[in-house]
Amino acid sequence: MKERLEAIKQETIAKIKNAEDLNILNDIRVEILGKKGQLTEVLKGMKDVAPEDRPKVGQMVNDTRKAIEEKMEEVKAQLQEKAREAKLKAEVIDVTLPAKKNKIGHKHPNTLALEELQRIFVGMGYEVVEGPEVEYDYYNFEALNIPANHPAKDEQDTFYINKNIVLRTQTSSVQARVMEKTQPPIRIISPGRVFRSDQVDATHSPSFHQVEGLAIDKNINFADLKGTLQEFAKELFGPDTKTKFRPHHFPFTEPSAEMDVSCFKCGGKGCRFCKGEGWIEILGCGMVHPHVLEMCGIDPEKYQGFAFGVGLERIALLKYEIDDMRLLYENDDRFLNQF
Ligand SMILES: [Zn+2]
Repeated sequence: MKERLEAIKQETIAKIKNAEDLNILNDIRVEILGKKGQLTEVLKGMKDVAPEDRPKVGQMVNDTRKAIEEKMEEVKAQLQEKAREAKLKAEVIDVTLPAKKNKIGHKHPNTLALEELQRIFVGMGYEVVEGPEVEYDYYNFEALNIPANHPAKDEQDTFYINKNIVLRTQTSSVQARVMEKTQPPIRIISPGRVFRSDQVDATHSPSFHQVEGLAIDKNINFADLKGTLQEFAKELFGPDTKTKFRPHHFPFTEPSAEMDVSCFKCGGKGCRFCKGEGWIEILGCGMVHPHVLEMCGIDPEKYQGFAFGVGLERIALLKYEIDDMRLLYENDDRFLNQF
């Protein structure tokens, strides 16, 4: 028995020393110490040992097991360390590989159009001014010469917070605020969100964006308005763009006009894009009504000015050839990534 145990011990320790990896080491454990292992077999043979010799033999078996387990732990630690080093070597970071790209957002067509508009007007010396979306009735209507009985003030068209406060229906309210605080010369554009009580369809939304412009100084006349807006149209749609002014009516300007640009698709010949007209309506404009200047504390005898307002969505839809306004608000990545 003693020789047998000694043989198992020598043989196993030799095997353990030669083990090349943790799997082989585990196989050795199963082979010797496992349920059907050699050492377990020896223990099963104890029943044939004389009872008085059993404690002695038991001790020998335990000593053998202990010696094997100790060697095993030692080699296991070495093998683990080796495996760790090999892993570190294999997983060296290649700093020359291109980095993983984070998915970041994409500029909305509205933002692109706004940046373009701002670039053009800032280039002409205009300042960008913003104002509150929840606005006093006074700045949204009254200061802009819109009387109390004007149809625009109908609840069908305007969201009222209460009798005196509305969700602004136009960013012209910012113009009134600026004129009240600043003496001319004034040259501003005021971009922002506006609200109208409209049903959603391909060209309407209860919330959309406007960019309004205002220039006030001495000796400003309609030619200045035309020159400025012509320059704007050429910058936005190309140097061959022509403009056309049609008489119109707005309460806060006099005279007032709507401006069309020659179709940038067909050059004015008429196509599907301009519905055969050759012209596309772009914005409303006019000379600031003397009454508006007066109400905002500016002397209409000394100063004149012009104002214009353009729908940001309208520009985005035209410039990027989008045929349904609703697409702008759906936040669909597949749509937005096209611009
Ligand atoms: Zn056309």
